[in-house]
Amino acid sequence: MLLDIKGLEVKLEEEDKQILKGVDLEVEAGKVHAIMGPNGSGKSTLSYVLSGRDGYEVTGGSARLDGVDLLELEPEERAAAGLFLAFQYPVEIPGVGNMTFLRTSLNAQKKARGEPEVSSADFLKLVREKAKSLQIDPDMLKRPVNMGFSGGEKKRNEILQMAILEPRMCILDETDSGLDVDAMKLVSDGVNALRDAGRGFLVITHYQRLLNHITPDVVHIMSDGRIVKTGGPELALEVEENGYGDILGEVA
Ligand code: ADP
Ligand code: MG
Ligand code: MG
Repeated sequence: MLLDIKGLEVKLEEEDKQILKGVDLEVEAGKVHAIMGPNGSGKSTLSYVLSGRDGYEVTGGSARLDGVDLLELEPEERAAAGLFLAFQYPVEIPGVGNMTFLRTSLNAQKKARGEPEVSSADFLKLVREKAKSLQIDPDMLKRPVNMGFSGGEKKRNEILQMAILEPRMCILDETDSGLDVDAMKLVSDGVNALRDAGRGFLVITHYQRLLNHITPDVVHIMSDGRIVKTGGPELALEVEENGYGDILGEVA
């Protein structure tokens, strides 16, 4: 199993508040899974905990990537192991050029895996080719990371990062929020182009519309810190039509 989460329980470090109450989730290589669910159900917390963000305490369960215990690893080790997270609000990094950032990230991962670094010339070729395929303005590569980027540019930049790092498991948390239809189409095309038999995706979204463009293999509904229902793409359409009320009432 590519991503294997069992009974994951998480509370806030600062507060005695349990947020994840036993999440079970398996994503096999080559598949796109979507997680939907009402606001506050714990979707973002799940992605933060997988990425190793501070402020959360795992109180039970496990999370493995290709059999490797993710929860034992530092955030950068998780990335080197092949985990990639695109967040709802991408960070801005003043003073660090986007190109430098991308190359540093790629080489750090290569180093952690014991692979040779990419030369400047090869990297330049790679980044130009990927940027072109994603219709990214070459100017965006020279600017500091995400500084002054529009919402759509930030998301496209994340897809560029993904295309360059070639992760095993990609998690996108509300990557559709704040995107206009054209930008969403571009992000979806970028994701679809990266779909591959060896790669898994977890697409977290509150709304169904992104899933019109990225057709998931499996859809999960999360509520109050648990996955409460799992189905095919039709589950997303059911949410679109009837909201979460019916599904949550049915599983309660
Ligand atoms: P979702 O992404 O599904 O909207 P979140 O994971 O953002 O849900 O939040 C789940 C619950 O945990 C919410 O009730 C939220 O208020 C709470 N929560 C998450 N992180 C924090 C935090 N750092 N401080 C206080 N409450 C938090
Ligand atoms: Mg939210
Ligand atoms: Mg969220």
